[in-house]
Amino acid sequence: MITKLFEEATIRDIVNSNDPNFIHRKKWLKDLKTKTGTVEIDGNNFYLDKVIGGTLYFKIKSAHRELYYDNIVSFSDNYNYIVNSFKFNEYDIVSTVSDRVKLVNDIKYYFKQMIENGDALVYCSCPSNLYAGFAYIGSELDYITRRNKEKRFPKIKNPELKGATCKHLNYVLFVLLNNIKIKKYCIIAFVDNFLRVQTKRKYHGIKDEWWIDYL
Ligand SMILES: [Zn+2]
Repeated sequence: MITKLFEEATIRDIVNSNDPNFIHRKKWLKDLKTKTGTVEIDGNNFYLDKVIGGTLYFKIKSAHRELYYDNIVSFSDNYNYIVNSFKFNEYDIVSTVSDRVKLVNDIKYYFKQMIENGDALVYCSCPSNLYAGFAYIGSELDYITRRNKEKRFPKIKNPELKGATCKHLNYVLFVLLNNIKIKKYCIIAFVDNFLRVQTKRKYHGIKDEWWIDYL
């Protein structure tokens, strides 16, 4: 039953609000893990498509059809806070390697905190996100992305308002939270994009910066 579980939701809040038995979510998660072994972010089932600002855009494969759904995980409010915390001529004036490592590690720390404890807005483009009422629940509890708010109560498919997300988002959020390799990959993607935008092309990408190994 829907309750006011949180004022603002972290991805842990959202995952913890999902009933594992609802709509075979548990079985699907188990099947996907069995099929893929360890999850690879660039594998066929689930991958990070792009990062824009504080938002991760994932693609996740449909269990039944040959198509991918869009999964969005956005930390925009926290991201804006981070942007305001760094003055990016800092990047220009830190000339020694150790200073640069420290700067990047500071940014990395913020993004790790953002993923683990930041307020998140989420979205999946699959049909059940809408028809099983998750878009409605997410609108009521304010954790669905703002442009996807839904006012129609799911009176047929989910009148008791069980769960918090579809199985795709549950999976993406669970992995993002619990798989250290994938969390690190997403943190690096955030840092890379952040430096690129904030330094206005003075930064040429993480592959050019050997000190990023300190991540
Ligand atoms: Zn979905």
